[in-house]
Amino acid sequence: MTGIKLTVLIVDDTPENIDVLSAVLEGMGCELMVATNGPRALELAARRAPDLILLDVMMPGMDGFEVCRRLKADMALAEIPVIFVTARTDDISTGFGVGGSDYITKPINTDEVLARVRHQIERQVLLRDLRELNRSLEERVRERTAELTLANRQLRVEINERRYMQDRLNYLATHDFVTRQYNRGALDAHVSELLARIQRQATAAVFLLIDIDQFRLVNETCGCVAGDELLRQFAELVSGALQRSDFFARLGGDKFAVVSEDQSEEGGTALARHIHKQISEFEFQWEERVFKLAASIAVVRIQRDIVSFDQLMLMADEAAYLAKREGRGAICVYDPKRSASDPQRESINWALVLFDALKENRLRLYGQRLQPLGAPSGAPARLHIETLARLWDPVREKLLMPAHFIAPAERFHLVIDIDRWMIGQVVALLGEVPDLHDQIGQIAVNLSAITIRDAGLCDHVGELLAKHRVPGRLLCFEITETEAITNLQSASSFMQNLRDLGCRFSLDDFGSGFASFTYLRRLPFDSIKIDGMFVRDMDTDDVHSGMVRSMAEMGRLLNKPIVAECVENERVAAMLRSLGIDWAQGYLYHQPEALTPQLLREWLGDASRADAQKVA
Ligand code: C2E
Ligand code: CA
Ligand code: CA
Repeated sequence: MTGIKLTVLIVDDTPENIDVLSAVLEGMGCELMVATNGPRALELAARRAPDLILLDVMMPGMDGFEVCRRLKADMALAEIPVIFVTARTDDISTGFGVGGSDYITKPINTDEVLARVRHQIERQVLLRDLRELNRSLEERVRERTAELTLANRQLRVEINERRYMQDRLNYLATHDFVTRQYNRGALDAHVSELLARIQRQATAAVFLLIDIDQFRLVNETCGCVAGDELLRQFAELVSGALQRSDFFARLGGDKFAVVSEDQSEEGGTALARHIHKQISEFEFQWEERVFKLAASIAVVRIQRDIVSFDQLMLMADEAAYLAKREGRGAICVYDPKRSASDPQRESINWALVLFDALKENRLRLYGQRLQPLGAPSGAPARLHIETLARLWDPVREKLLMPAHFIAPAERFHLVIDIDRWMIGQVVALLGEVPDLHDQIGQIAVNLSAITIRDAGLCDHVGELLAKHRVPGRLLCFEITETEAITNLQSASSFMQNLRDLGCRFSLDDFGSGFASFTYLRRLPFDSIKIDGMFVRDMDTDDVHSGMVRSMAEMGRLLNKPIVAECVENERVAAMLRSLGIDWAQGYLYHQPEALTPQLLREWLGDASRADAQKVA
């Protein structure tokens, strides 16, 4: 049956019965215990619990039923199966009643004993297996539970750590670490959300830009540790003067900002005055020095016509600039009319004007023709044009010249947008006149040194050319030598990428700086434009004419076509011709004018008509 050796207790007061039972059971390989009365049986069972008990019913003293009752009452023994051995059939039900599992009838029949005992033994083995299984199952459950608890705890720890790290990262990304106030990025996000909200519902809000007047003084006389401490104390002072609902941030340097909702413009100036009062009562002390502080505050009403954080900042910068000009501790409310009419406008104003101009599409594409100076014989030279940007100022109702806006545009990196706009216009224009492509030499677009750092420009130009079906050879880019071309390597690869599209490059304002020669050697230019300052008066200034002569010689040596700018009279034109200069550009030939497809047709029509006249 199984490998397990079972122990069987035989309880009987008749030795013959014991002998018969023993013989059968030993034959089955059981281990035997024998008791001839009830108490002895209980004693043996208690000492070593058997796997099965064969129990005689009729015994002197304690009968089998009583023994069984006591066994079943004992927790440790209750599970042991008991088979009654009896001659009386009416004992059977009593036997089951007291907890017996089976019965064997007397006289003892070996086959019956065998069958009953085997059945009990099988049951017992199964029970044991089941118990074993249960035990190991329980153990595994316990182990798994323990593991789970541990894993759970670990997970909780990790989740907490991650949450902490996320909070920390979030905090670092949105806070200034000197003052522990919100930083510019957080302010941008807050303002952007507010602007979106203002588009949907009428909300009054004001923006305050606070600029500490003495920060540099403290920083320079006491060092940056003192500067940081000043910023910290200042931030604490101002945030203490605000409502809970106000948003306070450090913009960087000595500039702070407040966004206050549910505020009219008057509310904004009142808040600015309140902040001023706090500042005026405050003294910054560093070692034995004491500083009285002041700050200029710009107030801007946040309204629907403000579409971005950048625009708001430009407006605030402008008002701050005016506030600073008014002297220590001034408050200035942004007023577009005042800004536009201020004769002392500075670059800050320009940034705003440019910002609006780009948004409102107020740039204009102008062009100036170049005049070929070469020998009049041979085929007529193809049309060469330089494009020039103009900007429509609706307040003054006039066009602004690049001399006013290119430098500020460079300072604010808005020149990239201007140059991209110009390229877009030129390519679209050329796209409208595919029949003229053969007659056009090239159209030049000026690129600022800032723009050539615009990594996406090459792809942009490529896409434009493909979209409008314009050959790249029609475009020439003029780059002025300037110290802004800091990285010759990257400038060179920028140029190479555009040259791969067929575009060409011209070195503008040649001679005006010292780097010209380096640029000519290191960068792939196709032509050279001599700076107008040498050309304009070369008929009266010997130094200038000498310089133009040597530049012309250099161009010949390098085998690059040369353009002279600012040709204003015939004498200069004649001198240039005698120096072998290839092209002239200037008011003598053409005043820049708005560039349109009609104008191109007119010019090219004129040219063929002029040729026809010459032939006739
Ligand atoms: P530039 O590239 O040297 O352009 C030539 C400038 O000389 C133009 O001034 C043109 O109108 C002017 N000019 C032409 N003929 C004569 C003349 O006979 N006499 C005199 N005195 N001047 C003449 P403009 O249009 O005011 O442009 C000034 C500068 O602004 C340009 O100088 C160029 O560097 C820059 N610029 C113009 N448009 C753009 C542009 O779209 N992007 C960039 N980045 N810069 C531009
Ligand atoms: Ca130019
Ligand atoms: Ca030039």
